Amino acid sequence: MREVEILRKWFEKFHLIGKTPEGGVTRLGYTVQENEMHSTLKRIALEEGFHYEADPLGNSFVYLDNKKPFWMIGSHLDSVPNGGCYDGVAGVLAGLLVLKWIKESRKDIPLKVVAFRCEESSRFGRATIGSSFMTGKDPLDFSRLMDSEGKTLFDAMQEAGFSPEAYCIEGVQGYLELHIEQGRVLEEKGLKLGIVTSIAAPTRFRLKIIGKQEHSGTTPMGMRRDALVAAAEVIRLVEELGLNESGYSTVATVGTIKVLPGAMNVIPGYAELGIDIRGVDRESIKRVIDGLTAGLKEIALQRKIEWKLEEISKEEPVVLDEKIVECLENAARLEEVDYLKMASGAGHDAMVMAKITKAGMLFIPCKEGISHNPNEEANFEDILTGARVMLRFLEEGCRCFY
Ligand SMILES: [Zn+2]
Repeated sequence: MREVEILRKWFEKFHLIGKTPEGGVTRLGYTVQENEMHSTLKRIALEEGFHYEADPLGNSFVYLDNKKPFWMIGSHLDSVPNGGCYDGVAGVLAGLLVLKWIKESRKDIPLKVVAFRCEESSRFGRATIGSSFMTGKDPLDFSRLMDSEGKTLFDAMQEAGFSPEAYCIEGVQGYLELHIEQGRVLEEKGLKLGIVTSIAAPTRFRLKIIGKQEHSGTTPMGMRRDALVAAAEVIRLVEELGLNESGYSTVATVGTIKVLPGAMNVIPGYAELGIDIRGVDRESIKRVIDGLTAGLKEIALQRKIEWKLEEISKEEPVVLDEKIVECLENAARLEEVDYLKMASGAGHDAMVMAKITKAGMLFIPCKEGISHNPNEEANFEDILTGARVMLRFLEEGCRCFY
């Protein structure tokens, strides 16, 4: 069977799990659907003559032998509500193919394919739960994290048959992850491979703008303190600050807006914006935040409004291992695959693994950059290309680690 057909055959075993009427999939962390994804992986592993093992958290491992130290290739098997079929799955399939090649060629390359639990934040408002607990360093509170029905992560994990207890995996020599890009950069450049150099981290703010709520018919234009018009200026400012930093891959977005009282005959007295700033360059992120506060002071003076900027969350960007990037580039050249070195705007398990080991990441294109959507689509040929580069990396590139 051609390798692309093998990938397709495996993919189709996962395909119908959690299928939605819109053609997407819903496989939230620690639900029946996610469990089914992992038991399907177990079935594939056993059919292929691999060993299968799950850790107490429910993360799956597929391997040939228990030699240490070992490399890991993996991703996740959960999805967002009504998400796509390739997010996460593509990376697990690529890992399985690399393992199959190693088995057939009898090469001595210790490798474990890993499928992490609950990577998406959709259910518990917190991403990369499986990998974070497996790397032991995350002081997550199991009973504080809750889904929309009030079920704690602790209970959800126990009900799914797992134990909510962090540990730190030992013997990992390095981690590789293939993932769909979830953006349009590769497609627009006509490239099949991205080598990720860093993973962006979001800083999020809630901005409260207080103006004066007044009658829209009787208050002359020159006498107003309109909170919504001030918010409009902030939205433009955030876009401009992001644009100024685009050379550093920093992005800035106002994604939510709340207006009070929200009546057509009342000048808005209050507006609230949700602002998301992310990037890989700390200085660049800082310039955006400084520009935002400076701009807010100016807007406040001109529009006579008051404001309060609350930081909701702040995460540090992760720079992936330079040596791994170099070796992945080398492997891509040997496989004659043109590639682009790029930053990842979205978070992935690789950024968690980077805390305990050398981690690297490959992107493959996805159609029109669409992801977290039923229309998400990637090409099996591209998964195959990525798998080839990873195998070459393990054969050649990683020698410089020894
Ligand atoms: Zn993903």
